[in-house]
Amino acid sequence: MKLEEVKYARPDIVGFENAVKDALGAMQNMTDYTEFKKHFLAVNKLSKEFMGAYTIVSVRYSQNTADKFYEEEQNFFDEVLPRFQKVSTDFTNMLLDSQHRAQLSSEYGSQFLDLAELSRKTISEEVMPLLQKENVLVSEYQKLTSQIKIEFEGKTYNTSGMAPLMENTNRDYRKGASKALYSEMLKNQPELDRIYDELVKVRSEISSKLGYKTFTQLGYDRMGRTCYGPDETAKYREFVLKYITPRANELKTKIAKTLGIETPYQYDGLLFPDGNPTPKTSPEQMISDAQVMYNELSKETGEFFNMMQEKGMLDLLNRENKSPGGYCTYVDAVKSPFIFSNFNGTSHDVDVLTHEAGHAFQCYCSMHFELGEYYFPTSESAEIHSMSMEFFAWNWVDKFFLQDTEKYKLGHLMKSFLFLPYGVTVDEFQHRVYENPTMTPEERRKVWLEIQGKYMPWVKYDDAPFLENGGRWQNQGHLFFSPFYYIDYTLAQLCAFQFYKKMNEDFKGAWKDYYDLCCAGGSKNFLELLPIAKLSSPFEESGFKATADFVFSEIDTMFSQFNNKAQA
Ligand SMILES: [Zn+2]
Repeated sequence: MKLEEVKYARPDIVGFENAVKDALGAMQNMTDYTEFKKHFLAVNKLSKEFMGAYTIVSVRYSQNTADKFYEEEQNFFDEVLPRFQKVSTDFTNMLLDSQHRAQLSSEYGSQFLDLAELSRKTISEEVMPLLQKENVLVSEYQKLTSQIKIEFEGKTYNTSGMAPLMENTNRDYRKGASKALYSEMLKNQPELDRIYDELVKVRSEISSKLGYKTFTQLGYDRMGRTCYGPDETAKYREFVLKYITPRANELKTKIAKTLGIETPYQYDGLLFPDGNPTPKTSPEQMISDAQVMYNELSKETGEFFNMMQEKGMLDLLNRENKSPGGYCTYVDAVKSPFIFSNFNGTSHDVDVLTHEAGHAFQCYCSMHFELGEYYFPTSESAEIHSMSMEFFAWNWVDKFFLQDTEKYKLGHLMKSFLFLPYGVTVDEFQHRVYENPTMTPEERRKVWLEIQGKYMPWVKYDDAPFLENGGRWQNQGHLFFSPFYYIDYTLAQLCAFQFYKKMNEDFKGAWKDYYDLCCAGGSKNFLELLPIAKLSSPFEESGFKATADFVFSEIDTMFSQFNNKAQA
């Protein structure tokens, strides 16, 4: 079935509630496992159908925000989802306390029960009003930042629209753009401080009511981390400081030299004197080149991409009334993942075709699981699939970048490497914040500068009081809406680097390991998934060092080759 052929009917919430309550009552004291399982699978199927209808509504509404019918349906779901959640939670709690738990676990794997157990710890009747308050603050942040408008050179931008301007080849232009952005941010700093301060306080209150010492562990539990905690991430940040920071510092100096800049400032995001790489072909051409790429990469990716196209599961081009941004989701009625995006002619379009397609391919490989819980893994594992697919695509990116291909590859590696110190700065900052919830906003911003100075000693600011005040993180939404999420990108990057190393030695072998990982989906936790892909844990020093050594020497070689050629 194609996406456009899927018939939608509004699900019956009362019917759903009653069915789950009936099952719950029947299963409570059921001694027969076979009978118990039958009810379990039936409720699972009902939930899947209910959420499947919701997915159809949000997909169709995002495809056409002028569609009044789906707008109405979207409102319906906003209203009934808390009820769905409530009865689903009751059902899951019954499973966790049931005498059949061990048998369920041995048949379906323990991961879905482990995750449910963690998630149960993160919530209680008593904290419901506080959770609502937390949501209101998050919405306030989103509203505030989306309303910030920056006037620059006769045009109006939002904050994310300013990032590409810092890559302009004209330094005065970059400096002007930076000034425009950060003077606007400075006006909003008191509000940003207030919102974050209240978030820290409410999160600390929630954690103490739930019996946690601080919010930190609650943050980890919310992320579904069943196999590592703050001690492991602290050790990991040490590795970044030891093996990445000094080399990133060296790299920054070398880049500045090629740019002819003595001291690089916050507005010098440029990597190459004649500009960062951009795709050279039309969006339509890029999609048809991606189809060739996936058919050549492997049998499985070929089948995947052809199916996505045939079933209308790629909505990538810009169109009137489409909602902004992009996402990847699973549509049960079509039995396929779906990718939504708005192509804009920058290298972002290539990322959609590689990174987002990596997420979608993993989901496609995991559809064999009976439990929908296993279609996507926790986020540090999920980002391995997407970030590694970016590297598997390297043999074909010349189709998109033509004469900029070498520049793209070098830029891709450098950006990924330079990202790690920033990623752990964001992480350590949050640990400090939630361990000391009574700090004032000014003290917090000082802590940011201190940690940033440790991991990114090269950062220097010019004419930007907002940043000099330690405000850099206030532009990073994750700290507001997904506390402790950020480290996941860096953990996954370390794993993607291992795939990069492996594909240089044995491409076919690397692909096989990657495919095995995709097929395991979310059926296991992060540390159990790694051996399936023959990856070493980022929490182990020797593997970390070997990966960092390899990637840095690659950058070093490519950097010299690229700049010698440029000079010749
Ligand atoms: Zn991703």
